[in-house]
Amino acid sequence: METEFTEAYQRTSAEGRETECEKVANILDLVIDGEASTDEQHFFNSHIEECVSCFESHQKQKLLKSIISGHLKRVIVPDRLATSIKARIQETV
Ligand SMILES: [Zn+2]
Repeated sequence: METEFTEAYQRTSAEGRETECEKVANILDLVIDGEASTDEQHFFNSHIEECVSCFESHQKQKLLKSIISGHLKRVIVPDRLATSIKARIQETV
């Protein structure tokens, strides 16, 4: 329904979450590459403690990055396998 959609959209905006998540998405690459400033790093860390979706995208990006950089063998990883692979990585490192 149009009304429900509008309400949901306005609620998201009012919480300001969307903006913070966008900010996190923007600096995600920098954080993973270790090139973020102290402020950005701090903002990022405190945000992903509270925001599961950004935390997950951070994990996914890190995983992707290690696959791309050849740290892992070249495997296509379906989303639902990411969790078990993550666990395996944490055991290995
Ligand atoms: Zn977020």
